[in-house]
Amino acid sequence: MVDKIQSIHHISAIVGNVQENYDFYTKVLGLKLVKQTVNFDDPSVYHTYFANSKVDNGTIMTFFPWDNDHKGTKGGGQVGRIAFSIPKGSLTAWQNQLEKHEITYHKSNMFSAATLEFSDPHDLDIALVEAETSSDNNEIIGFYGLVLLSTNPQGTLDLLTREMGAKLVEEADEYLHIELSGPEKHRVLLLKKAQPLGRFGISTVHHVAWSVDRLTDLQAWHDHLKEANYHLTPVKDRKYFKSIYLREKGGIIFEFATKEPGFQVDEDFDHLGSQLKLPEQFESKRSEIESSLPKFIVN
Ligand code: ZN
Repeated sequence: MVDKIQSIHHISAIVGNVQENYDFYTKVLGLKLVKQTVNFDDPSVYHTYFANSKVDNGTIMTFFPWDNDHKGTKGGGQVGRIAFSIPKGSLTAWQNQLEKHEITYHKSNMFSAATLEFSDPHDLDIALVEAETSSDNNEIIGFYGLVLLSTNPQGTLDLLTREMGAKLVEEADEYLHIELSGPEKHRVLLLKKAQPLGRFGISTVHHVAWSVDRLTDLQAWHDHLKEANYHLTPVKDRKYFKSIYLREKGGIIFEFATKEPGFQVDEDFDHLGSQLKLPEQFESKRSEIESSLPKFIVN
């Protein structure tokens, strides 16, 4: 037996230059770099992780910064706009912040709450959505939710609601609003119209990972989804978590990832993200890997 999926674990996107990406997410959006490592499946590419200042689970945004100009095509089989949650009453402060950095935005009600929609420097679609909860600062709280661009919306809906325990809460003109069962109430907006297949590259989201507690839970999810006829990868060791992956019926890559062991396995809290960390299998090739990666200054 498996419990319902409570929340988003992380979202991973493909972007351009690593420094531009770092500058935007730290200096404009105020997130914290919590890990710099490489793509474990291709160590010639960085994999960077950002989170809120407390590094809470459910706030982790990760990037594969490609040092080339292979722009992707947004479309079916991908996550669309990524929404971060901002404290109640902070919308105007965030408008000022975006204006200060000359970022064009527009106000909407996309997530059924006051929303600012804009793009990051590499054309990734972002939103800031005002939450119900207030805070003593204006910092991003975590994810508010995301949009799914499915080639088969009914198939995607079935997985979310039947297998993962999410709830259909609202039907709007273009989107089905689906809510995860955890206290963060992460919201998934599923585009009702089937989308033509997109192509991965800069400006596209590669996958979304859903949170499970421990390895035993991950194994239970593996068995549960296998019984529901999904093709899954075996459990992979991502050093900071263990993962399984599948491509759901609408073409989107879903990962299920454990909260354990977390980002402090190889760095203490105060030094998170301060230097390039490699998994054991790449440590012997460190100098080769470092010299092939573009320069990246953390400040
Ligand atoms: Zn992932």
